[in-house]
Amino acid sequence: MVTPIVGAGTAEARWRDWPAVTTWPSLATPPLTTPPLVVAPHPDDEILGVGGLLALLGRAEVVAVTDGEASHPDSTVHTRAELATIRQGETRRALARLGLPAAPVHRLAHPDGGIDEAALTVALRQRLTPGRWCLATWRGDGHPDHEAVGRAAAAACAATGARLLEYPIWTWHWAAPGDDRVPWQRARRVDLPAAAQHAKAAAIAEFTSQIDDLGPAPGDAAILPPHVLTRFARPFEVVFA
Ligand SMILES: [Zn+2]
Repeated sequence: MVTPIVGAGTAEARWRDWPAVTTWPSLATPPLTTPPLVVAPHPDDEILGVGGLLALLGRAEVVAVTDGEASHPDSTVHTRAELATIRQGETRRALARLGLPAAPVHRLAHPDGGIDEAALTVALRQRLTPGRWCLATWRGDGHPDHEAVGRAAAAACAATGARLLEYPIWTWHWAAPGDDRVPWQRARRVDLPAAAQHAKAAAIAEFTSQIDDLGPAPGDAAILPPHVLTRFARPFEVVFA
């Protein structure tokens, strides 16, 4: 299911007012013997989706599938190569803000917009072991790269016995409360203490190439304007178990 991501999307207030959100079970977060493997289609997805959870867990190993070089295809300010370099640096600094300055980041450099799902499945299988957590974008998230990552992670977890936890990103934009395309019955809440909320906010603020306009031209407009960012400033995160 690839859903067009257009317009202002579902207002955060509608999610906040949906009673079901408060009834989802909490995700148990026991001490992990191995860091969770966090799979990011684009630099920033890992922070937006599960940055607070990573701060809570205190460890992470990141797979950066693409460098996000296609975020501004019509930019008059940055080339694709420049954006790739900028966004890698933003991820590095964001992880430091989460208290994870030494978290390994494995850069796979798949083309932004053209992930090789079979190759990604192999790469993830090599890093996953029985019971290890794998945090990946949800298979139904509506963005082709996010869905490819979700499918590859699901296949790799099924093959290795790793534990798949899928995080939605664009679902909050195109879906509405109660939307029957979304597996709400699998939803687990991660309630974030104030320190984790603050760390996540500081981490998100590092993605200036996505939050700020690169320049006045339409092709340089922010990818993550305030109405999108507010969805990731909640005091909790949601994963599909
Ligand atoms: Zn993304």
